[in-house]
Amino acid sequence: MADTLTFKTDMAFTHGKPSNMAPGVRRVVANNGGPLTFHGTNTYLIGTNALAVIDPGPDDVAHREAIVQAAGGKPITHIFITHRHRDHVDGTLALKRATGAITCAFDGTRSLRGMTANTPTGRAFIDLDFVPDEDIKDGDQIEGEDWQLDAVHTPGHAPDHLCLALNAQKILFSGDHVMSWNTSVIAPPEGSMADYIKSLEKLLERTDELFLPGHGGRLEKPRRAVRAYLLHRKMREQAILNAIRNGRSTINSLVSEIYSGAPQSVVGAAALSVLAHVELLHARGLVTCAPKLAIDAEFHPS
Ligand SMILES: [Zn+2]
Repeated sequence: MADTLTFKTDMAFTHGKPSNMAPGVRRVVANNGGPLTFHGTNTYLIGTNALAVIDPGPDDVAHREAIVQAAGGKPITHIFITHRHRDHVDGTLALKRATGAITCAFDGTRSLRGMTANTPTGRAFIDLDFVPDEDIKDGDQIEGEDWQLDAVHTPGHAPDHLCLALNAQKILFSGDHVMSWNTSVIAPPEGSMADYIKSLEKLLERTDELFLPGHGGRLEKPRRAVRAYLLHRKMREQAILNAIRNGRSTINSLVSEIYSGAPQSVVGAAALSVLAHVELLHARGLVTCAPKLAIDAEFHPS
């Protein structure tokens, strides 16, 4: 069984200029590119008369002006947030002020794993204080003047992660759950590998024909990609279990084996991703942790 992930890294765009993705769907890419954000955060505008925005992106004046300009004088009535990571949510309040739109995000009154603690992925990455005007939960349908979006709760990358489905066009806005340019980062305690795998399986039950992700280009044949990501995680989990069985007992030693040759800029994310797999192995009773499950623990086979 070969691990055959292929990524699509070509993407035609100019920062700040809208691109047509489908009838009534446009994308504006924010200029916040980096090792975890690829070319930058994708902001989508949906509708023709009154618009919805998905993910305002960073709090950046030029990007906000580009979104308003892309709206072309049409009102923006709703702003959706796929999750409370700063590269998606930070521009929300200023865009709300500029447009009068209502903000919609996953119901923050529910307990959101890891999102209250001071963690490695804490305030630097997550806006713990963001409160939307409308709490959304799995299965909710939100209607605008000429669009309807269905909420699909997909925890894993983040506990509050929502994909948003434009069922009329079989398009799923997949946020950071499924992307074309790279796999999703699963960083505990906020990120959960068990949830992520369940949320991938949830998308296999759907019939979307196109995913439009939070970073990177469009993802055609999305179910094939989801199946490949599931296989990739299964193989990585097996590789980590084998390494632990062969005496690798720390996250650092596992990272240097599993991610050998990875650039320094992604080693921190890789360490958290390995921890996410070890957490799942631990939950399945295959691995023990001493003194407790943490990034600096020692791991041994059960
Ligand atoms: Zn992101």
